[in-house]
Formats: sequence, C-alpha cells, structure tokens
Amino acid sequence: MAETNGKPVALVTGGAQGIGAGIAGALGAAGYAVVVADILQEEAGETACRLAGQGVEAAGVRLDVTSAEEWSRVIAEVEARWGGLDVLVNNAGISPRGTIESTDEALWDQTLAINLKGPWLGIKAALPLLRKRKGTIINIGSTRSTRPMPGLFPYVISKAGLYGLTRQVANECLPEGITCNMVAPGWVDTPNERKIQARHGRPDFPAGIRNLTTPEDVGAAVVFLASKHGRKVHGDILYVDSGLHVADDAGMVHLPDRVKPPFEQRIDES
Ligand code: NDP
Repeated sequence: MAETNGKPVALVTGGAQGIGAGIAGALGAAGYAVVVADILQEEAGETACRLAGQGVEAAGVRLDVTSAEEWSRVIAEVEARWGGLDVLVNNAGISPRGTIESTDEALWDQTLAINLKGPWLGIKAALPLLRKRKGTIINIGSTRSTRPMPGLFPYVISKAGLYGLTRQVANECLPEGITCNMVAPGWVDTPNERKIQARHGRPDFPAGIRNLTTPEDVGAAVVFLASKHGRKVHGDILYVDSGLHVADDAGMVHLPDRVKPPFEQRIDES
C-alpha cells in the first residue's frame, strides 16, 4: 500500500509555514516522503504541493495536535497511504507573551495544550508505527527551554516541559531503538513571529536584528538527528541559536539599537 517507493516517511506538525515548512523542505530534499500536518489544512496542502513541485513525495493533512482523535485519524491515514512512519517532528507551537500575573488560565491551558500535550499525544499515537521502523522523534523546543526570559511565562514553562518530555521519552524508548531528541532554535523570522512582533510595536521585524536562525538551519539539524549518525544521539538538546543560550544577555538578538553586546564579534555572522 505504501506509495513511497521505499523512501523513509516523516511527519511534521505545524508544517504548513515557518520553521515547520523549513523542516519539511529539508527532509524532502534529504529523500524523505513528507506528511505536512497543520491545523491550517489549506496551507498544509499548498506547502505539500510546493514540495511536490520540487520532486518530493508529499501530502498535506489537517491535524490539531491537541486532539487525540485527530492524531488517531492522521496516523491511520499515514499507515494506510504511506505504509509506516520513520520520523515524527513535533514542531507545532505558539509563543504568546505573558508574565506570572498577566497570564490567565485560558492562556496557560492553551499554551501547554499545544506546546506540551500535543507532542505527547503525537508520540503516543505514532509509537506503534515508529516501533516497527525503529524510528525517531524530534521535538522543536527553544533557547527558552533552558533559559527563561521575562514576559514569556507560559511559553518558557511549556518548552522546559517539552525538554523533560524529550528525555523521559528517550529513556522509555531506548530499549526499542527509538531515539528522541530536541532541536532548540533561537529567534526565527516566521509569519507568526512577525505578527507577534508587530503587536508589540516592532512592525519592521526583523530589520536590524542580528543572529537570526533560519527555518533551513533548523531543518538541517532535524535531518542530522534523523540520520544514521544522528541516531547515536539520545535524549539530548541541540541548540541552533547562534549561541544565545550561552550568551550573557538574554535580550541580545532583540536590541540592535541599544548597547552593543560585548560578544557581538564572536557570534555575528555578518
Ligand atoms: P508558526 O506559527 O509560524 O508556524 C506554526 C504552525 O503551526 C502554524 O501553521 C500554526 O497555525 C500551526 N499550529 C498552531 N497550533 C496548532 C495546532 N494546535 N495543531 C497543529 N498546528 C498548529 O510558528 P514558528 O514556525 O515560528 O514556530 C514553530 C515552532 O518553533 C514552535 O514550536 C515554536 O515554539 C518554535 N520556535 C520558534 C521560534 C521563532 O523565533 N519563530 C524560536 C524558537 C522556537 P496558526 O497560524 O493557525 O497558529
């Protein structure tokens, strides 16, 4: 039943745009058949069509990662149409702004549901297929998984939780030959990040900002972790953030018109 002609199969959540589309493109270029899964069904289809135009076997499907029922349906579709699953990339996520006090319960619940519960539901649903192929799970975290930042309260907690989930899944799946790791991007210019920045008074984002990570950078890291050599990595976090997680100013990529950070020379690519 598989239509992949022996190609490995990857599913990318939130794959319609932004980082997810970059990951889907990188996996497609590396020879994977790619399932582009997104809550935006039409956009997922468009991204899959674009990949197909580049010679990639790709399909777009609707998936709300917070719904166990939708995960069951999508995984059943993947098995029926593609014959199995080798790589699950939990990329879909939101990054709302909020502090301890300004975050209300609805925002907490929504952020944790998409960023943390979603990956768990996906892993749970996909495990039977991943088991058959000794597959791999790659969760998209953030510099903020391990480095807090004022104003990102529910986001930081969700991404720290996702790191814990990554390690726990790696631990439980180790005997089965399934790896689970996290790729942690720095700041990436994506459609929704532009909207967030515009809402916070920076309509010209990303003008003047240094050290942006690109969706292609993240895609290349995912391809590595899914590769034969990357499969030696278990339960780890791979930062793709130009050093933001070790820099001594958490706001460094954010402040081009303020004091220049002393480490600029070390990490600026220009
Ligand atoms: P985008 O919002 O640009 O793309 C994410 C996609 O996921 C969108 O199509 C979005 O749809 C979709 N989505 C949202 N909710 C769900 C859901 N419940 N089920 C399925 N799909 C959903 O995000 P980015 O590309 O910027 O980010 C991707 C990942 O990378 C996220 O996990 C984010 O936290 C992480 N990240 C991003 C950084 C950045 O600077 N951009 C930095 C570090 C990490 P819709 O547009 O309707 O919301």
